[in-house]
Amino acid sequence: MKHQQFDTWLFEEEALSPDQDRALAEHLESCEHCRALAAAGRAVEGQLLTTSQIEPAPGFTQRWRACLADDRHRVGQRQLGAVLLSTTVGLVTLALLFGAQLLPLLQPAIPAITQWFSKIVAVVAHLNLVREIFSVLLEIMVEGIPIVYRVVLPISLAGLSAVWIVSLYRLSFQNLRREL
Ligand SMILES: [Zn+2]
Repeated sequence: MKHQQFDTWLFEEEALSPDQDRALAEHLESCEHCRALAAAGRAVEGQLLTTSQIEPAPGFTQRWRACLADDRHRVGQRQLGAVLLSTTVGLVTLALLFGAQLLPLLQPAIPAITQWFSKIVAVVAHLNLVREIFSVLLEIMVEGIPIVYRVVLPISLAGLSAVWIVSLYRLSFQNLRREL
């Protein structure tokens, strides 16, 4: 039998009959040309298999983009959370500092304040909506601010607030001491 028949068998997709298989094996033993061809075929096949494993699944770029957008959104949410938290901490600190002194002054206004408080509670109930709006606003703002200021601005604001609170504390302590 000529090489060509065996060459065809080498790359046959369907399984060979036992007779064909045996004939091919015998021929491969005696024929260097077909042996080299078989080896080359196996090498190419292996190459194709590894390549298809390494190659990303279709839609990879879209998933990657979506993942990036997701990450950015998460970072934005975290920044928003930090801003809200520091604002809340600042407000609570101020309330604690001045609350005791202001309470007697505010006493007549307490019913109005309670009403306001219930309104605020109602707003807080819609906080998710507010948060969504804030996050969109923040995203727009953050987009326009150079990265240096995104870091420097909050830190300097926090530092200023800390200095402010500390000096307020000192002032009130000095006043106390003077009064005593
Ligand atoms: Zn041959």
